[in-house]
Order: sequence, then C-alpha cells, then structure tokens
Amino acid sequence: MQVVYSPECLEYAIPGHPESPARVERIHDVLKENGFGFIGAEPAGKRDILLVHTPGHFELVKSKDYSGIETPPIDIKYPLLAAGVTIRAAERLGFALTRPPGHHAGRDSLEGFCYFNNIAIAVRKLGRRTAILDLDTHHGNGTQEIFMGDERVLYVSLHQSPLYPGTGLRSERNCHNFPLYPGTGEGTYLRTLEKALGMVGGFRPELLAVSMGFDTYKGDPLAGQQVTEQGFGKIGRMVGSLGLPAFVALEGGYSENIGELCLSFLRQL
Ligand SMILES: [Zn+2]
Repeated sequence: MQVVYSPECLEYAIPGHPESPARVERIHDVLKENGFGFIGAEPAGKRDILLVHTPGHFELVKSKDYSGIETPPIDIKYPLLAAGVTIRAAERLGFALTRPPGHHAGRDSLEGFCYFNNIAIAVRKLGRRTAILDLDTHHGNGTQEIFMGDERVLYVSLHQSPLYPGTGLRSERNCHNFPLYPGTGEGTYLRTLEKALGMVGGFRPELLAVSMGFDTYKGDPLAGQQVTEQGFGKIGRMVGSLGLPAFVALEGGYSENIGELCLSFLRQL
C-alpha cells in the first residue's frame, strides 16, 4: 500500500500534547525502513471542506478564534493538508499518514484533537457507496453525525466504552456501534471485528474507508484495550480478506510503538 505523506504536518507542536508530531514521524521512519513508497499531496480546497462542514465551521478554523487543550489554535493550512492527504489516499487506495486526525470533527464542531473530518471529506469527494470502518479506540462521533441516515454510507465502529467522547453506545440507522469494556481481551476484540466485517461485506460497498487508530494497543497511555502488536497484523489480515478496494486514514494512537503497530497492520492488509 502506498503512503500519502507531507512532512509539513510535522511543523506544528504543542508542548506536552499527546497528539504530537513524533507519532507521525515514528510511523514514517518504520514504514520507510521497511520499503514502503511515499507520495505527496496538495492541501484540500475550501470547496472540499464544504462537502462536509458548514461555512461557519470553515471560517472558525480559519480564524483560529477557538481554544481548548483538545484543539489548540493552529494554522488552517495543517487541517487543510490533512484533508488533502486523505483525499489523495482515497483516490490512490493508500494510507493517509497525516495529522491532525479527523473522526471527532462534526459538521459544525471541532473537538478531540480534530478540526476537519478528513475521512468524511474524502468519502464525500469520491462519492462512492462506502463502508467506513472505524477502529480507533474512541468512537468517531463526528463521522457518525455526518453520515447518519446517508444510505450510500455504512458506518461501523469498534470502540472502548466508557471513554471519551461517550457516544456510540448503540446502533442507529446506518451507523453500527460495538462498544467494548475497558480491558477487553484481544480474542474478544477480534471476534467482535469478525461480526463488524460481516456487516461491512453485507453492505456491498464499492469502497472501504478505514479510520485507523492505534490506541487500542495494550500499552496505549490514553485507553485500556488489549490489542498486541501481532494483533494489529491479524486485524490487517481480517480487513484485507474482505477483498474490497480500501484506503486507510490515520486517527489516534499515542504509544511509542506506534510505528511498529502500523507496520504490523499495513503489512497484512
Ligand atoms: Zn482515539
């Protein structure tokens, strides 16, 4: 799988913030050492952002007139670039190695380290019948809100509960949620994934979009799931066995091993 990447996403940093440039850098270095090919991307345009977000939301991100530890003010060029990288990954069926992540950003809201919803923008831009599989340990509340009731899109999420953002406790319309207790073992996780993948296959999508978080890792400092490094390889193999055209967008993952976890996943996909 080709990696879509722009080193500019490493330019901004908030000291002590878990969503750090080191996350992306670690993945980049490990994938490079292991022979993955990289291509660049242009930033998304305003028109792309408005496929998903309100004009008011675009202006807010542009103005930097917001605050909070979760979403510190940053130059709009970074969220635009992350969206652009994800669009290119969708077009090329690649891996969008970028930051900031996106799945908590709603139509008119920024939260949880997310400014624009990268995967939602890419899915809307391509306009295909798409299944979104969200494997970040946090529920993708923004993605769910954006696609709720959209018959061309299936949203399926496995996530820890209780945990931020506290949504995704039950399934609704085209959005299927699999909340998992903190400490859920890898065996249970993989069996649940099997069920989720059955739903994805049954939807008969033209495209599979994976919101990939590595914070289900047993050593992740922000959550309490138990997936091992080898487990990410199993997840990759299971997702790959669907045989669907797929792209992957990076969401969370905060351990120092994120590079190895990502390699394990992508190698088997
Ligand atoms: Zn997460």
